[in-house]
Amino acid sequence: MVTEQEITHCFEKLGEMGLDPNARLSSTLSKRGVARPLDFRRSADRRLRAKVYERDGYTCQGCGVMAREVPMNYDGRSALYAANGDYLVVDHIVPRSAGGTNAIDNLQTLCDRCNSVKGSTIDKERKAHE
Ligand SMILES: [Zn+2]
Repeated sequence: MVTEQEITHCFEKLGEMGLDPNARLSSTLSKRGVARPLDFRRSADRRLRAKVYERDGYTCQGCGVMAREVPMNYDGRSALYAANGDYLVVDHIVPRSAGGTNAIDNLQTLCDRCNSVKGSTIDKERKAHE
């Protein structure tokens, strides 16, 4: 049995760590700068995707390939094809696994090809450090 006193003690400990024990877990995580995965079914994340693409001119920041076609008033709902036949993706410049956030400064437009090259480079770097 966990007593009420023990629970209170736990809450106090969380408070000392700078965490709000009453906050929901997700907002606690985002306050601590840990990104949750982007989910483009969420309208906030779709808007973020549209914003990143717009800022980058619908162009892959790796190889410069452009989106083949951008719908009018693009709202991030659908994925965009690049002229090379790949998809454009939103990439985390600092990977989430390394503490990167979903802040727009940490996001860039990449084509699928550049994204997978980047992914394998990071894997190699990670292995080299092991
Ligand atoms: Zn590219």
